[in-house]
Amino acid sequence: MAWRGTRRLAVPFLVVGGIIAVALAAPVLPLGDPVTIDVSARLTPPSAAHWLGQDEYGRDVLTRIVWGARASLAVSFLAAAIAGVFGIILGLLGGYFRGVVEILTVRSAEAVLCFPPLLLALLVLTLLGPGAGTLIVALSILYAPTYARVAYAETLAARNLDYVVAQEALGARSGRILARTVLPNVAPPLLVQFSLTVASAMVLESGLSFLGLGVVPPEPSWGLMIRGARSTMDQAPWLLLWPCLALTGTIVALNLLCDALRDVLDPRGRNVTANPFRALTGNLLSRTSPPQVSKPELLRVDGLTLEIAAEGGAIRPVRDVSLSVAPGETLAVVGESGSGKTLTGLAVMGLLPPVVEIVSGEVHYTDRTGHTYDLMRLDDAAMRGLRGDEIAMVFQDPSSSLNPVHRVGDQVAEAIRAHRNVSAAEAWRQAVGLLDQVGLPDAARRARAFPHELSGGQQQRAVIAAAIANGPRLLIADEPTTALDVTIQAQILALMAGLKHQSGGMGMIFVTHNLAVVSEIADRVAVMYIGEVVEEGPVDQVFATPRHPYTIALIESVPEGDDDRLSAIPGTVPPLHDLPPGCRFAPRCGFAEAACTTADPPLERIDGKRSTRCRRWRELA
Ligand code: SF4
Repeated sequence: MAWRGTRRLAVPFLVVGGIIAVALAAPVLPLGDPVTIDVSARLTPPSAAHWLGQDEYGRDVLTRIVWGARASLAVSFLAAAIAGVFGIILGLLGGYFRGVVEILTVRSAEAVLCFPPLLLALLVLTLLGPGAGTLIVALSILYAPTYARVAYAETLAARNLDYVVAQEALGARSGRILARTVLPNVAPPLLVQFSLTVASAMVLESGLSFLGLGVVPPEPSWGLMIRGARSTMDQAPWLLLWPCLALTGTIVALNLLCDALRDVLDPRGRNVTANPFRALTGNLLSRTSPPQVSKPELLRVDGLTLEIAAEGGAIRPVRDVSLSVAPGETLAVVGESGSGKTLTGLAVMGLLPPVVEIVSGEVHYTDRTGHTYDLMRLDDAAMRGLRGDEIAMVFQDPSSSLNPVHRVGDQVAEAIRAHRNVSAAEAWRQAVGLLDQVGLPDAARRARAFPHELSGGQQQRAVIAAAIANGPRLLIADEPTTALDVTIQAQILALMAGLKHQSGGMGMIFVTHNLAVVSEIADRVAVMYIGEVVEEGPVDQVFATPRHPYTIALIESVPEGDDDRLSAIPGTVPPLHDLPPGCRFAPRCGFAEAACTTADPPLERIDGKRSTRCRRWRELA
């Protein structure tokens, strides 16, 4: 915890702690009896003997303020805590699992919100009778749905963050993901909600006690004191001041405390947006009976087609995509934005967003034992077992791939422990070794850093360390250098090339829009255009003699110098819901002829190693 954050926390912490300490110490403090009546001294103004005066029954006001704090604080904190526990559980479950679980948890709890809060509290208190215990029950019921909504909204937001998906990809169980990854990230707003709830509960407790439905007289509470002072307001207005001051001061201090807590507990600080991590793994194949097929390559994608339901009709962002990767080989998948290259990678990982459906296709993967499976037919448990262990993934933005509330060493260790039965200490030792292996300077020290304390390049090294933690046979890198500056890009590329060399057989799919990167790192390249592979083959051959006009356009659009952005290719990419007939590239193709618009050309094998989706490829030679 940073010293600056600690200092910010100190003042409200001391104030709230002091209030609670005084309330708890009431029985041993040199105070009078809070309920002893002295009618002869009623409404006596403040004096040396009675610093805050005496109330309408001659009771010492200071004594009752201190004892009243016990009731108000106990009711408010207990109600806020009980409501928080139940509400957060409902919100987490509803936001994470959605569907029926959401209806049974969050939506059901929201029914409570249909009732006006005071009316609901009055109803419960009328049914169960007044008293502090009943008040706690009523307030807990009242506030739990609010927690549920906050937790639900935050969980929904966190649910699709990279680091949560990463934990799923690591094979972590849902309960562990909720407790270790989602909850810490939704905690700051829940802490704020806790402070608001305590403050609101104190006000409501006072209000209900004021109405005679809360704490039962003659026991003191601030609400009862305000009620008593109201009837004598004309004669002794100061009696109204003290409980109001106590109530207001405590609420302000609570809000300041929780605000400071939120800032201190969230290492991202106020200026950093959410987000976190991905890698991937498994060892559960032996527990399932996946279908075996007879394709011996490391990975072969056959005829993959993906579909998204849309208002104007379904669109297919990936159509009939076929790829293969051999052990030790790097396949670059290149194309403009919207070409479907990232979705293809996510399909292999089994991490497609829920809106994307697999229409057809097979993804054959050969594991360490030599068994080949169709990943499209594996169940969730088996895929979870593969991800992070056999197949790993590195994503584009390292800052969103690392969980901001966990130290990077812990995150790498978590990737190891998701698939290896090792102690926490051993996992940490291995994590430091991995961070050192990927070139993180002073790895032992930086393993203890939070992601925001590392540079972008260092973050990506940490992400790569987690991805290779279990020695995957296939690494999918989705534009892993795009978010980095040019110098760091070169370092990360060199690192990945070196890791592949050291691994002795790890295959890699390198998704990129940067042809310069392709030539540096890949053995083969697959060029994609709006959802289809239009050319595929060895990098040197494709670059030397491209056999598709789109590949030619891509090569010609490569900018000079350090700028890695593709310059514009003539024409625009047609929308997926309005694809042109025949060859999809025809409207932008300088070689197009009438026949090109009658039928979409198939991916044609043009020699033993290459293929193209252009019917005029011979004329391009
Ligand atoms: S098939 Fe025709 S339109 Fe399509 S890329 Fe080849 S020449 Fe161009």
